[in-house]
Amino acid sequence: MTLHEEMRLVVDGSKCDGHGICTLVLPEVISLDPWGYAVLAPEPLDDARLIARARRVVRACPAGALTLLGDPHATTAFDDRDAAPSPPDRSSRRGQRK
Ligand code: SF4
Repeated sequence: MTLHEEMRLVVDGSKCDGHGICTLVLPEVISLDPWGYAVLAPEPLDDARLIARARRVVRACPAGALTLLGDPHATTAFDDRDAAPSPPDRSSRRGQRK
């Protein structure tokens, strides 16, 4: 058994809003049910390119409904890379200008 055989994409049905973006990114694994909600193939992901696209689809889901189980590089849909940068802390400069 390899690491890839243990990786599986899952959907949290309570979060899925039926945007359908996931099927555009990973149609081999994700389809939509008659109401437009994601349905995932149950097989583990065993191909490096498929796994790379699975990571991309996790980030692309606007509802944060997808998770790649068993991924050692796991991210959530809105991880630090997606967050807006914090404004610089200027509090220590107060009172220094004259
Ligand atoms: S992109 Fe996300 S919210 Fe939209 S159908 Fe796919 S899993 Fe559901």
